[in-house]
Amino acid sequence: MTATTTRKAVSLTGTDLHLSFGEHHVLRGVDIQVDAGTTTTVIGPSGSGKSTLLRVLNRLHEPDKGDILLDGRSVLKDNPDELRRRIGMVFQHFNLFPHKTVVENVALGPRKLKGLSKEEAREVALKQLEIVGLTQKADVRPARLSGGQQQRVAIARALAMTPEVMFFDEATSALDPELVKGVLALMADLASEGMTMVVVTHEMGFARNVSDNVLFMDHGAVVETGDPGQLFDDAKSDRLRTFLSQVL
Ligand code: ADP
Ligand code: MG
Repeated sequence: MTATTTRKAVSLTGTDLHLSFGEHHVLRGVDIQVDAGTTTTVIGPSGSGKSTLLRVLNRLHEPDKGDILLDGRSVLKDNPDELRRRIGMVFQHFNLFPHKTVVENVALGPRKLKGLSKEEAREVALKQLEIVGLTQKADVRPARLSGGQQQRVAIARALAMTPEVMFFDEATSALDPELVKGVLALMADLASEGMTMVVVTHEMGFARNVSDNVLFMDHGAVVETGDPGQLFDDAKSDRLRTFLSQVL
């Protein structure tokens, strides 16, 4: 696949990120360093702040404190819309437009946000659908696809914006078990192509085998971070050992 060849890989850095919702201090000084072309997996119990971290990193929530750098440059003063165009996001629930065809769903961003003509946007969308292996489904409605196929369309939709970084937030959690593999394989392809990625997942196989770094969060803080072998085989903290014993 050749999804990312049009963009150079960039690094993503978050330093001392804090966020509170009212009295609830949800991110308590999180540091994250994702080198250009690498994949960081974020693991941790439900409610530990993983989704919030992603949402702060693309400024869906503004951090109360800390900095965010793309390619070594702070993005906090940029227009948040511009940042969100540089970061593709894939969620658990893919939210495709049910009344549009698959190719129309993918073409929408390039048309509306990049100002491509209808024909150009369709061409971009078809290319992305080829990359995710869904060319034959281009002209059907999303409801005709399996959950795994719909998630691949959502990935194609994000890639059609030529993002510099990709975020995945539990992208396979809502899928039937037999559909998980295909989506993970596509994510692994993207990683091996040198896309910079942050992946929140409960798929420990992906964390161990695909990602370059793993970050374990608990109660809004990074408890441990390191390469997967080190984290999985030689956890330092009781909290990580307990978490791993529950999910492995
Ligand atoms: P995770 O993704 O690790 O399960 P989240 O980042 O979704 O955790 O949530 C972390 C904490 O922040 C939770 O206690 C959650 O209830 C709280 N939280 C998340 N989003 C909001 C919000 N928009 N308003 C208030 N509290 C929130
Ligand atoms: Mg979450």
